[in-house]
Amino acid sequence: MSEGMTSTIEAFAVDTENRTKFEAALSERNKGLLAKGLSEVNVLIVGCGSVGSYMAEKLIRAGIGAMTLIDPDEVEPYNLTRTTFKYDDIGTLKVEALSVHLKAINPWSSIEVESEKFEAVSKQKLKDYVQACSLIICGADDKVTQGILNRVASYHDKPMIVPGLYQGAKGGEVVMVLPGVTPCLECTVEGRSFTATQTEETVGRQTDYGTGRLEGEIALGCDVHHVAGIASKIALSLLSLMLSGDKVEIGKFILKPLQDKTNYLTLGMTPDYWLFGEVFQDVPGQYAYQSLWIQAHTNENCCVCGDRKLELDPIDEIATELDVEGLSTQLGDMNNEFV
Ligand SMILES: [Zn+2]
Repeated sequence: MSEGMTSTIEAFAVDTENRTKFEAALSERNKGLLAKGLSEVNVLIVGCGSVGSYMAEKLIRAGIGAMTLIDPDEVEPYNLTRTTFKYDDIGTLKVEALSVHLKAINPWSSIEVESEKFEAVSKQKLKDYVQACSLIICGADDKVTQGILNRVASYHDKPMIVPGLYQGAKGGEVVMVLPGVTPCLECTVEGRSFTATQTEETVGRQTDYGTGRLEGEIALGCDVHHVAGIASKIALSLLSLMLSGDKVEIGKFILKPLQDKTNYLTLGMTPDYWLFGEVFQDVPGQYAYQSLWIQAHTNENCCVCGDRKLELDPIDEIATELDVEGLSTQLGDMNNEFV
């Protein structure tokens, strides 16, 4: 190591005083592009696979200061083709490996990890995680988790980003949900049914939202990360908008889609995919990649964003949860009674 490099590293020794100095140096190459205050923001990521782990890294590199990661799985060799994990991570919990990776990028970042299955996280812990965050990212591809998070985000008034990939990562989507502004996740993806009639190869049939998504699919990491990269920009745009309004350029990136309620971004990664061939048929030079923001509508009977609003915290309604903490307190009380 050269003398110059040693002195640079010493100048950023991981102690409290150096945090501000490091953050200023870190943001030198994206100065003015993002809102100030991102280092105080906490992002909750549920699902740390190909999309979640990639987004976590991008957001920490952009200056997000705190993160909560939820995922019960361990790193498998095949994960290495499209995640941030390394050979040495194989066999360790994804949340642990990712936490080490993120702390290696920014040692001052605060990373909380939860290796319980989402539905098994204790109610109190889940409430704490949700209340502490400014944004939820749903990187989980199962319908149950998405459905619960849709309700939780709405009840707790938290914005949520839900990236998804279609079969073989030939296409993908990013749903942006802002309670009180956009329709909820379920109402938004209902919009797919009207577009699905436009082509023989329907995305609705390919994805069957939540059952035909990417987990276990054969797909290229670069296609997965195309969607995850866009979802990361949407996350930074949304957070910047919340912190500084449209004063920061990136805030404008999603302003129009939010105003127009076109909060459902669809993406094509192969030529003539889904509706893109038809939509752009007379436009020259239209090959993959392509994108289209689709307008979503609130179903008035929706219990999440319609007239029938949620009255109880959905976290209290998670039926499959075994509330271990609550149970042990209860047992402790019972034992005390018999002492
Ligand atoms: Zn709804």
